[in-house]
Amino acid sequence: MAATILVVEDEPAIQELISYSLEQAGYRALRAASAEEALEMVRAALPDLVVLDWMLPGMSGVEFARRLRAEKRTREVPLIMLTARAEEQDKLRGLDSGADDYITKPFSPRELNARVKAVLRRRAPDTTDEAVEIAGLMLDPAGHRVTGGGTRIELGPTEFRLLHFLMTHPDRVYTRAQLLDHVWGDHVFVEERTIDVHIRRLRKALEQTGHHRLIQTVRSAGYRLSVQG
Ligand code: CA
Repeated sequence: MAATILVVEDEPAIQELISYSLEQAGYRALRAASAEEALEMVRAALPDLVVLDWMLPGMSGVEFARRLRAEKRTREVPLIMLTARAEEQDKLRGLDSGADDYITKPFSPRELNARVKAVLRRRAPDTTDEAVEIAGLMLDPAGHRVTGGGTRIELGPTEFRLLHFLMTHPDRVYTRAQLLDHVWGDHVFVEERTIDVHIRRLRKALEQTGHHRLIQTVRSAGYRLSVQG
């Protein structure tokens, strides 16, 4: 699934340039002209990454970053900060605010795309096209294929995304609400019970190769993918 990237930039020409080059690179770009607007959008659906301008009217980029980092739901959203000033102090402030990377204006679309790709690979591997393998279970996002010990496993689109997310974040427990945010991309319109239905379907599909045991229920917490029992 293509990563959704929220672009927070008040200058229309730069906002357009960034969004356009991200879309050309295959990402889905959402646009906000202020931090206030961006906060509303993040509340509605969690993006996979935020490209954030430092200088914004009203709430600054740094303040917006702090707010994201202060809330449990948004704490881990990867952030790339744009700044017009290259002074060391600014860079440090950018990093202190919890940014994963920063880019000094002016920058080329190619540089931006390279940084975005690097941050996503590190922080949101489920949005990249790299194949993952755990205990003989192999998932190839580019070819949309799953195999268990070499045997082809057929999955529906939601089960595929769910398995991709869990395989790229092994040994961690995710609540139903977190899975909705990460896999469905929107925590408002889907009931949490829906997760259980898709987990059940996923396990059933993995049963033929014995890999259903990887998908573990953690009582009163959520789900985890792990090779340990
Ligand atoms: Ca600006």
